Amino acid sequence: MQDTLKHKGLRNKLAEIVADQGITDTKVLEAIKNVPRHLFLDSSFEAHAYQDKAFPIGAEQTISQPYTVAFQTQLLAVKPQDKILEIGTGSGYQTAVLLGLGATVYTIERQQELFKKTKLFFGRMGYRPKKVIFGDGYKGLPNEAPFQGIIVTAGAPLVPKPLLAQLAIGGRLVIPVGQTEQVMTLFIRKSEKEFEKKEFGNFRFVPLLENKN
Ligand code: SAH
Repeated sequence: MQDTLKHKGLRNKLAEIVADQGITDTKVLEAIKNVPRHLFLDSSFEAHAYQDKAFPIGAEQTISQPYTVAFQTQLLAVKPQDKILEIGTGSGYQTAVLLGLGATVYTIERQQELFKKTKLFFGRMGYRPKKVIFGDGYKGLPNEAPFQGIIVTAGAPLVPKPLLAQLAIGGRLVIPVGQTEQVMTLFIRKSEKEFEKKEFGNFRFVPLLENKN
């Protein structure tokens, strides 16, 4: 599989589509233009890669819709070198978008099959997250905390306390909260004990599951 000018052209269109839906952060739009989303899908699905749609990636999981990736990333307000924790590595697309913004990325996946596949894929593609971890995102990554940003890419029935605890002061947690439908929720840590909470519309994600291991 390779990246071509045709793919690049389709990505420019995709960036326009998400911009029309209200994404204004030019760095996020740049990342959408640059990350070759078709390479994150099985080659038979390549034709779907630049539609603004979620798509199956195996192990009953999905690569999030580009608009959703852009929306969550915009809420995260990433600055270069920020330490970011991603829960739900999946295909690795969101990870690549975060790397494109210059973040230092830690990413956790609980499906072993996807974890192995995506870790190998990062290596082949030259993507360099700081750590790709097989584990339970509910627990976060206490040994690497604090994080400037934490992004949860699966629907959380409740907000895991460890994730709030692992935010730096000023840090942001972007998490879709709810059972069948989720409300995109942003927590900003104002001080050791205070968190500001903001809610942004409904989304649908695959569920954030407790680990079986
Ligand atoms: N960021 C991904 C989205 C994948 S969908 C992408 O860009 O492709 C959500 C992912 O979260 C799935 O891969 C699922 O296996 C994973 N997941 C679900 N519960 C989890 C948990 N408790 N810890 C870590 N990952 C989890």
